[in-house]
Amino acid sequence: MSNLAMQTIQVKNSIKLAALRAGYGPVQLVAVTKTVAAERVREALALGLTSFGESRVQEALPKLALFPQADWHFLGRLQTNKVRDVVGNFALIHSLDRWKLAVALQAEAQRRGSMVRALVQVNIGQEDQKGGLDVAEVKGFLQEASTLSKVRIEGLMAVPPASENPEEIRPYFRKMYQLYSKLQVPGVQMKILSMGMSNDFVIAVEEGANLVRVGSLLFGERT
Ligand SMILES: *Cc1c(COP(=O)(O)O)cnc(C)c1O
Repeated sequence: MSNLAMQTIQVKNSIKLAALRAGYGPVQLVAVTKTVAAERVREALALGLTSFGESRVQEALPKLALFPQADWHFLGRLQTNKVRDVVGNFALIHSLDRWKLAVALQAEAQRRGSMVRALVQVNIGQEDQKGGLDVAEVKGFLQEASTLSKVRIEGLMAVPPASENPEEIRPYFRKMYQLYSKLQVPGVQMKILSMGMSNDFVIAVEEGANLVRVGSLLFGERT
């Protein structure tokens, strides 16, 4: 059995057990394939993985073209001049973090006659170098975004401050779940809470994540 095959079983199993402990419901696994070669994406598909995440548009597009049957997620900072390449190609954008981007997504979706699904990224650790809205800005942003007919916001995403000890990340996940579960904005249905990566996805699921984004634990360390 390949490493990827073994890791896939392990990760899925850990998710299942954590989800049972937490009792929140099913959890979607997005396999993060940034820097991962197309051949390994093929192998992942053959192993039954169906959702993949990428954070750079130019790197992602050839893989999307090779495997259009997969469900592709966009995770990285999205420049408005790349919106054209993202709308229609990606099933879900995890990194909606500013009004200008929401407007650009709306315009592109309108041009194509399609809808864009997105998550609002929250800068839960208030880190300068990270994208995302402050917690206090989220509700107002959702209220405004609910007026955009072609942008459908389905939840929240966060990348908390990194730590060697995933237990230190737990309070950030908990805060995210609180925010997510309490938000009530007419016209917006909160369905997805995207948080947890290789190092901390078990804790994220315990704290209510229903989508985790796992890369290096499946495919090996990125070089
Ligand atoms: C790279 C990346 C991941 C996956 O990180 P791993 O630690 O390799 O699991 C998840 N989410 C985002 C936003 C990323 O950029």
